Amino acid sequence: MYAKVIVDVAAARTDKAFDYLIPEELEEMVHPGMRVMVPFGPRSIQGFVWEVTEHTELTRVKPVKEVLDPSPVLTGEMLELGEWIAEETVCFLITAYQSMVPSAIRAKPKKIIRSNVESTNLPEALKPFFDGKNEAAWDDVVQTKEAASALKQMTADGSVMVDYLLKDKTGKKVTRMVRIEGGKADEDYSRILGAKAVKQVQAMNWISRHYADKAVPVREVQENARVTSGVLQALIKKGFLLEESIEAYRDPYQNRVFTESERPSLTKQQEKALAPVQNALWKQSYEPCLLHGVTGSGKTEVYLRSIESVLKEGKEAIVLVPEISLTPQMVERFKARFGSEVAVLHSALSSGEKYDEWRKIHRREVKVVVGARSAVFAPFSNLGLLIIDEEHEGSYKQEDHPRYHARQVALWRGRWHSCPVLMGSATPSLESYARASRNVYRLLEMPKRVNEAVMPEVEVMDMREELKKGNRSAFSEQLLEKMQDRLEKKEQIVLFLNRRGYSTFVMCRSCGYTPSCPHCEITLTYHNTGRRLKCHYCGYGEPLMQTCPDCGSEHIRFFGTGTQKVEEEITRLLPEADVIRMDVDTTSRKGSHEKLLDSFRKGEADILLGTQMIAKGLDFPKITLVGVLAADTMLHLPDFRAPERTFQLLTQVSGRAGRDKLPGEVIVQTYTPEHYSIQHAKWHDFHAFAREEMVQRKRGGYPPYFYLTLITIAHEDAAKVMKTAARIADLLRKQLSPEARILGPTVSPIARIKDRYRYQCMIKYKNEPELIRILNDLNAQYQKEMAEENLTISIDMEPQMFM
Ligand code: ADP
Ligand code: ZN
Ligand code: ZN
Repeated sequence: MYAKVIVDVAAARTDKAFDYLIPEELEEMVHPGMRVMVPFGPRSIQGFVWEVTEHTELTRVKPVKEVLDPSPVLTGEMLELGEWIAEETVCFLITAYQSMVPSAIRAKPKKIIRSNVESTNLPEALKPFFDGKNEAAWDDVVQTKEAASALKQMTADGSVMVDYLLKDKTGKKVTRMVRIEGGKADEDYSRILGAKAVKQVQAMNWISRHYADKAVPVREVQENARVTSGVLQALIKKGFLLEESIEAYRDPYQNRVFTESERPSLTKQQEKALAPVQNALWKQSYEPCLLHGVTGSGKTEVYLRSIESVLKEGKEAIVLVPEISLTPQMVERFKARFGSEVAVLHSALSSGEKYDEWRKIHRREVKVVVGARSAVFAPFSNLGLLIIDEEHEGSYKQEDHPRYHARQVALWRGRWHSCPVLMGSATPSLESYARASRNVYRLLEMPKRVNEAVMPEVEVMDMREELKKGNRSAFSEQLLEKMQDRLEKKEQIVLFLNRRGYSTFVMCRSCGYTPSCPHCEITLTYHNTGRRLKCHYCGYGEPLMQTCPDCGSEHIRFFGTGTQKVEEEITRLLPEADVIRMDVDTTSRKGSHEKLLDSFRKGEADILLGTQMIAKGLDFPKITLVGVLAADTMLHLPDFRAPERTFQLLTQVSGRAGRDKLPGEVIVQTYTPEHYSIQHAKWHDFHAFAREEMVQRKRGGYPPYFYLTLITIAHEDAAKVMKTAARIADLLRKQLSPEARILGPTVSPIARIKDRYRYQCMIKYKNEPELIRILNDLNAQYQKEMAEENLTISIDMEPQMFM
């Protein structure tokens, strides 16, 4: 038998399967989707088994050295999905596969076998390895063919379980347990043990009273029977107790109590939206659905109901949520409904915790996964539904290899499993909306809020007028008045600012000098903590200058308004107000995000001031005023999606107001009140915005009318970058069809990052069947320069960022 193996070397020349001989003793062990160690040149490296065959074209093949996984880490579906991702995103197969495996087991983990049968009942071939214990080292067992096949048998009938033995930091937790040997519980222990062994008798009596026939954690015995571990050790030695260890999952939510929520009866529009999803599920047909529902229309309830139907069918569901809205509040809604059937995957988990959640999925112990982008790879094999909440979110696109879009992956898996894919948003991406308009996706609309709640009134304040009146503060007169009013009424306020830090940048008033990063072509940002200037791209920092390094002037001025500065201004203007500030600085520690929100929910503060991270998911009834301090900050970025992102953000933020009985009000402050994205957001009119934006997209040749590919070339030597970029643009012009437009090469919006110069080419196209092949060839052609001279050519299909 031979194994076709994808080796762990991300390079063009290794981006194919290599043949290896499966030695006889490993024959039963090797299956597609497992990792193996194989000889490669002088080294021994990891690889994924892609296929097991009886033939090879080669005359001499080297043998597989070692099997790393007791069972496949990648299913057949995943192996195929990886191929598709590698192709579509122009990355190496190995890169695609690695991204689907939890990082905790990406190294070369040791494995342990745990048996649940009496040691006397073990097959002869295995007995020596267990040696009376319930654990054995996997690596030892698989050395001989007899033991290996006995092990295989036992794994198949579930009497042993093989698991990775992870290092302490990421490894699983084990709980030490004891149980009464042979289940002989109700004996007179003081007679058997002797009256002097008071403590031992005490322990045995307690255990036989409470745990006569099952195992109990050692700690519990110690605490309740008031004995030390020495006492229990003695009892184990004497053979009265049997020691065992069972693994405990690290549950990041273990300290929280989830109350079963009441299921509200659905509104008419929720029922209408749910029906097609259920139908597709029952018919087992692939059906992408776009759920366009205004904020507060009850999209989450539709998700929950469709998952209920999925579970009734005995199937599984994946729910994708953007990282920043994966709040405990969000998770709670799923846990409350589905309890322990839910696994949660997000980036705040340690790699060990992530691995635990992954393992629950792998072992079919859960049926629902709620998670950020990479949860789309949850290794379910009987999927009945994939849900993508806030489907327009740019964070669903991974910005690093493999540059996949979770929406595309979800659609692929939906097709594979013949099941519905439900994409929901109050502000769908124009790409999805266009597809829904052409019936590629089924459009489900929920135009009204639940409980007849009205959409909040939005007022747009022209900040140019404020400036004319001499008001230089961050607050218009109107906003300040309304804030005072809410403080008196004891209602809550949310203030939104799309920036962080004390001040965006620093400038010399005398000569106009602005400090920028010496390694990146980017202005430094001032942070009040430590009075330092920081680069947001490479982390470079320096102390704030006292005088201008160019002209020596002492007139250094802060430009832009950051959250810290606004907080200080509130304290000055409304000293009675309690403010909670949420930005990257106040929420960097694990759990702090949650704590701040909790305290706001409990009414411990009047004002919540924050950046993007407060735009989503907050559902607090007492918020009646939302202020957007500077709506323009996003509008003028060099990105064709700037108006769309502005519209989305304003809609999301204003969706925080008036979600309950109290009506909400929104004030949007801007220097460009006439802009269509601001005007349509004011009237909550997604359709009008989409119409107008589509005209702009068509005019500019952008998605959804054209596809985009962005190629960025970077190197320390500017001349080399320019030359390479020009050659690439040339090559593309020659090879692509005349309909394709190749823009550039031009300098990237950020011309230098970490001392490397950056140029880019953009391809706009409608139909280029050869493009993927051409880009792959390009990669191969520059392979040597990339490997040896540190040249980077990054290819981004359907880019979300243009920096
Ligand atoms: P969206 O995700 O569309 O913004 P949510 O799902 O958060 O809306 O729902 C808004 C609020 O309405 C939530 O507090 C939710 O519990 C409540 N809700 C949803 N559906 C119903 C219903 N059918 N009856 C009563 N309340 C509902
Ligand atoms: Zn100066
Ligand atoms: Zn920098």
